[in-house]
Amino acid sequence: MERVYIGLGSNLAEPRKQLQAALTAIAELPNSHLAATSSLYASDPLGPPDQPRYVNAVAALDTGLEPLQLLDALQRIEQEQGRVRKAERWGPRTLDLDILLFGSRQLAEERLTVPHYHMHARAFVLYPLAEIACELLLPDGRSLQQLLAECPYAGLERMCD
Ligand code: ATP
Ligand code: MG
Ligand code: MG
Repeated sequence: MERVYIGLGSNLAEPRKQLQAALTAIAELPNSHLAATSSLYASDPLGPPDQPRYVNAVAALDTGLEPLQLLDALQRIEQEQGRVRKAERWGPRTLDLDILLFGSRQLAEERLTVPHYHMHARAFVLYPLAEIACELLLPDGRSLQQLLAECPYAGLERMCD
């Protein structure tokens, strides 16, 4: 089993429900155990500004799946929840599931870069992650606390339950 962190995001079709449904699906993945989930956060969109705000969360999964098996499974969940891939980057979507960290692995495969290439600069990833993995170290030795110190909370809002 390896500890994996997954970033979840949605800004279409009732985002909170999308995230709840995704967490249920993730909890049912074979050979895996959903260990923790963060609170939900509202965040400003990263890409084109003419889209609704996002709801984000981070989940911790202990899994015996291989990285590409997990990516396949997460992409299947995205599709089952109506994700439509468009040419526009970072456009609105019902569900985005990104693998942030996979144990201490560093992967640079065509379909999968781990750690996620931009997690260090995203408040909507780092702050939820800190809720469930406060003392985390990245594979390159940087601590989550270091990354947080360099990443303003701007635009993020922890949502009530
Ligand atoms: P961003 O990656 O900047 O958050 P995005 O999540 O909107 O943007 P997607 O359209 O969801 O991007 O994914 C594009 C491709 O990224 C996927 O087809 C997938 O193969 C690839 N990819 C590479 N690394 C990862 C990762 N760590 N987690 C999820 N997908 C990844
Ligand atoms: Mg993403
Ligand atoms: Mg993605």
